[in-house]
Amino acid sequence: MSQDFEPACRRMEWLDPFYKAVWEKAYAEGIPISGTFELTPRCNLNCRMCYVHLPAEEIPKHGRELTAKEWLRIAEEAREAGTMWLCVTGGEPLMHPEFPEIWKGLCEMGFFITLQTNGTMIEKETAELLERYPPRGAKITLYGSNDQVYEAVCRVKQGFTRAHAGIRRLMEMGIPIQLVSTVIRQNEADVQRMALFARYYGLPWMATGSIKPSVRGADSQAEEVRVTEKLEEAEREQIRRRITEHPVDITRKPCTYCKDYRLGYWVLWDGSMRFCSFMNEPDIPVWKMPFREAWQALLRYEEELDWPPECKRCPVSKACAKCAATLATECGSVHRVTDEFCQRVKKYYDEKEEKWKLWDRSM
Ligand code: SF4
Ligand code: SF4
Repeated sequence: MSQDFEPACRRMEWLDPFYKAVWEKAYAEGIPISGTFELTPRCNLNCRMCYVHLPAEEIPKHGRELTAKEWLRIAEEAREAGTMWLCVTGGEPLMHPEFPEIWKGLCEMGFFITLQTNGTMIEKETAELLERYPPRGAKITLYGSNDQVYEAVCRVKQGFTRAHAGIRRLMEMGIPIQLVSTVIRQNEADVQRMALFARYYGLPWMATGSIKPSVRGADSQAEEVRVTEKLEEAEREQIRRRITEHPVDITRKPCTYCKDYRLGYWVLWDGSMRFCSFMNEPDIPVWKMPFREAWQALLRYEEELDWPPECKRCPVSKACAKCAATLATECGSVHRVTDEFCQRVKKYYDEKEEKWKLWDRSM
């Protein structure tokens, strides 16, 4: 490491002290303790803001899905390298043609697994599989409180009815569930009812309006459907927090600000290992190389990746809420900025300029 930083896990108050200690050690030693396996870009829904989903006929244009055997080889080596926490996601992970075999294999390896699903496919066989091999928790995306809203967001019929049934089945099995909602124009007016739904079942619920354009081939309508006013508000708030609480130190490399720095990784559906799923680099082909070598290559990438030169001489860099993923998705590459993005940041910054000056003088 070129510099020592406070690991992000120290600010994760919800983390149990035991796990915190484990994460600290992983950070210090560069152990890949937490991984995400994005099994497939397939999905039975077709959400307007999705940055991953590809129709089956489009998949070969972008890559090849890994087989169960390939996933389990990567998993076995990841476990030997230190992975304990695994998030299994997609697309819709249950759509992988060999999902049962992959799931059973991962569970038998003893990972703490979180299953991230849209909940609409928890039917008889899957329910039996999950009952026999339960995840440690399920993160279920909730896009509305009725079928009409699901149709507007996910462009399918009876989406809510099916997700509701899936949630109830998992609850009956005693699997801890967290609901997560992405808010776009099409479900904005339904937010309170989604909150009530979560409350009715006593489930934790989180909503976000932060959606990023896809840089991975998905036909995302992010730009058109995001609730711009709310996002502007959130960006202003981020700048305020940077100015008053956590200014960005531009001498720190981009990845150092993320909780996954030195301890987490993504394996995309085509077998590339990356630091973050929103980014379009690096493409470390873990599907055809030993896991440990791929992990070392990712650590090197994290150490070497730097901000674009414009950011290093930018007068508002301390307040700018960019990260590697924001640059990749908003500016097309983590190595460059665009006028449009920077002008927006500078406009919000200017609104706070007086406060900024006061803060600056007090440093
Ligand atoms: S956002 Fe999730 S549920 Fe919607 S299409 Fe994408 S992968 Fe499927
Ligand atoms: S405003 Fe633009 S140049 Fe300045 S720090 Fe942010 S992204 Fe970089």
